Amino acid sequence: MTDTAKRIVMMMSEQGVAGLPRNYELFYEAVTGTNQELSKELNRLGSSATQEDLDKLGRRYFAHHHGEGVFEEAQSRITSQIKSVLTLLRDEQTSLQRYGKVLGDTSEKITDPDHSDGRLLNQIVRILSDATDTTIDHGKKVVNSMNEKSVEIKKINSELERYKKLANTDPLTKLANRRAFDSHIAEVHGDKKCAMYSGLIFADIDHFKRINDTFGHIIGDKILSYVAGILRNTLGEEAFIARIGGEEFAIAQKDTTEQEACEAAERVRAAVEEKKFINNKTGIDYGPVTISLGVCMGSEATDSTELYRKTDQALYASKNSGRNRVTRFSEIPAGNGKAFKDWLLYRKK
Ligand code: GH3
Ligand code: MG
Ligand code: MG
Repeated sequence: MTDTAKRIVMMMSEQGVAGLPRNYELFYEAVTGTNQELSKELNRLGSSATQEDLDKLGRRYFAHHHGEGVFEEAQSRITSQIKSVLTLLRDEQTSLQRYGKVLGDTSEKITDPDHSDGRLLNQIVRILSDATDTTIDHGKKVVNSMNEKSVEIKKINSELERYKKLANTDPLTKLANRRAFDSHIAEVHGDKKCAMYSGLIFADIDHFKRINDTFGHIIGDKILSYVAGILRNTLGEEAFIARIGGEEFAIAQKDTTEQEACEAAERVRAAVEEKKFINNKTGIDYGPVTISLGVCMGSEATDSTELYRKTDQALYASKNSGRNRVTRFSEIPAGNGKAFKDWLLYRKK
């Protein structure tokens, strides 16, 4: 067992935490310090943490793993709403059948020649009028109930929407996460024509490890958020921007030419380079912060995997030729691809 694994297991057993994989995940994040907010919250809970407390944290920090529970609950709520709508409709049917029977009986009496006097007709009109009132009342109740059910179903839907957004968002930068990005690219590549005119840009912060080592992780996180903000503000609404790794971002553009994609990449590069990363209180300058970018058009790849690989090669060419620059895949000399096989953002770990 590695030292980290030992520490995690020890902490869990000291705090009386059940050895469940989802608890291990929480403690792993806390011990390795990749999620400082989570570490603080776990510390605050201490040894009094119940499984419910831990699961609450899990739901907040690892929404993706707890997604099934949320969907199951929503599904069972929707099922129960649909069941009660069906019951209402069945009641409505019974009530209408009863009304139909009253009408049938009445019509029999009217057509009976022995009973066609004025008194009887009066009685019949009264019965029909009572039955009509009851049916109308019942109908109103059904409409009200149906309205309530549809409000509840709308509520469930918006909760599901909120959850879906959470599962697709990177909590630090509020950009789309890798999962959302992959499904966006899969969608673009599901349509051959759309894929032809799509461009992919990868951006990676230069020497970010050095920034973390010099100023600490918290400043590193702030810089990540700032860079994300610059991407958002520099690119138009149409660009799909995601944080796909630690200090790695991806921008997918539809309906674009290679020239336009490269111009967008260059605008982003210049905007990050120009931004002053100075702490207002202490005057410390964390900069200069720069990014390297790679650009590849969908028309140069047969599928999304190849597109990722080629965009990555373009990014690597930027890193290799001095950083803080944009390289398009199409300008890399043929045959140089082999030299990049150890780089890939998407390399298998
Ligand atoms: P290069 O110019 O070649 O990209 O160098 P680099 O230092 O940016 O690249 P490297 O891959 O060596 O290091 C990336 C660093 O990013 C290492 C890791 O500590 C840091 N990092 C990854 N995710 C996060 C995060 O969420 N927050 C912070 N603060 N740092 C992160
Ligand atoms: Mg980097
Ligand atoms: Mg990187």
